[in-house]
Amino acid sequence: MPVTVAIIGAGPSGCYAAEALVKSGIDCQIDVIESLPTPYGLIRSGVAPDHEKTKRVTRAYERTLLDVRVGYFGNVEIGRDLSLKELRDCYDAVIVAVGAPLDRSLDLPGGDKAGVHGSAEFVSWYNGHPDYRDLGPDLNCKQVAIIGNGNVALDVARILVKTPAEMAKTDLPAYAAEAIHNSPITDVYIFGRRGPVQAKWTNVELREMARLVDATPVVDPVQLPDSVEGKMSERDRRLSSKNLETLRGFVGQEPDAASKRVHFVFQAAPVEVFGGAHVEGLRLERTRLEGGQAVGTGETIDVPCGLVVASIGYRAKPMEGLPFDARRGTVVSSDGRVKPGLYVVGWAKRGPSGVIGTNKPDGDAAARQIAEDFTKGEKPGRSALQQLLELRDTAWVSFEDWKTIEAAEIAAAPPGAPRKKLIRIRDMLKVLDP
Ligand code: NAP
Repeated sequence: MPVTVAIIGAGPSGCYAAEALVKSGIDCQIDVIESLPTPYGLIRSGVAPDHEKTKRVTRAYERTLLDVRVGYFGNVEIGRDLSLKELRDCYDAVIVAVGAPLDRSLDLPGGDKAGVHGSAEFVSWYNGHPDYRDLGPDLNCKQVAIIGNGNVALDVARILVKTPAEMAKTDLPAYAAEAIHNSPITDVYIFGRRGPVQAKWTNVELREMARLVDATPVVDPVQLPDSVEGKMSERDRRLSSKNLETLRGFVGQEPDAASKRVHFVFQAAPVEVFGGAHVEGLRLERTRLEGGQAVGTGETIDVPCGLVVASIGYRAKPMEGLPFDARRGTVVSSDGRVKPGLYVVGWAKRGPSGVIGTNKPDGDAAARQIAEDFTKGEKPGRSALQQLLELRDTAWVSFEDWKTIEAAEIAAAPPGAPRKKLIRIRDMLKVLDP
């Protein structure tokens, strides 16, 4: 009997785990179970709409999902349609590849006011994730504050200031385009609690800020150190120096040359969101750096704004039957092995860090551990899952069904755009059963 493996989640980490198993030489049958009808996780709902090239990695994932050993069960949610225990009863091994879909909470006075969003929900909204279609962020303001100095903060800022023409050839959903492009936003502030040297963004993404058609990056040169100091690897020093050089290039640009601005403000840690029921501004405390860490100076600044996006990292969602580290927001494991027969990969294992390809070694580790833990399969796998789903009347979506949904999205795309995403699950299912 082949070893039967279920992978929960069809995002990058789930697809790399499936690929690693396919290539491992283990005699196995693999089923990828995904809560949405659509595969590819953050590639579809996280990668910025204007980064279409990044999304091409799905071609490799598709090859894996089309392998004869691999099955796809979309629109099946563990915890809703069946429990983790039931899934483990069907399969020899279960790999949890559910990512980190929740926002790390912004633990500030006023952080629960209307108009404060985490980047997980905000990005999911403009990327057409069905669960966030109705988020309805209020963009009726001139100034926006983004907290955090990571790539997601840059994505959010860029999407808010790009012109309709810059976004025309993307898959930004029409409702989001309408809300963003009709908003009076003129100034977006990106706040880092530490300095430019400690910022987490990558240089390619930072450089994009200098190529915006109608927005200027603004930075106070006083905030930029002359050189990169402190203990760090040579690689990090090189990357930080490049970022510093890019930021220096922003200095001296005429802020009013464009109708919008993206302000980079460093050493400013958020301390309070103020206003009535709705956010009216963000209070920040100036910091100084001690050994690379931010220490409050007691001096505060108030920045009026009508929208706050906290882009301060993500956490996984706890699942019944999985040991969870609430502080780190990850599943507890020993290099991915929760126990023999249960494994975790990707952000659910490591936390939200690295690039897409960083998930690959996690898949390799899971395949290696499965090879160590199983010499042959014992549990029925796919047939048992299908029986359970039929019993529960679950409308699962096959990979062929997904290809039908994808074809409909491509056929409906506006000229030059890669696709017009179907947003509501009922609309996706309607394509399959017109
Ligand atoms: P990130 O890179 O970890 O950045 C999080 C930022 O939030 C850091 O600057 C951090 O500052 C700050 N922060 C955390 N808690 C804070 C608090 N309480 N108050 C103020 N600031 C706080 O996270 P991310 O931007 O969400 O990105 C997640 C991962 O996805 C990263 O690996 C990223 O590179 C990747 N990603 C890549 C791309 C791309 O390649 N184009 C695009 C999007 C995302 P400290 O450093 O001081 O903690």
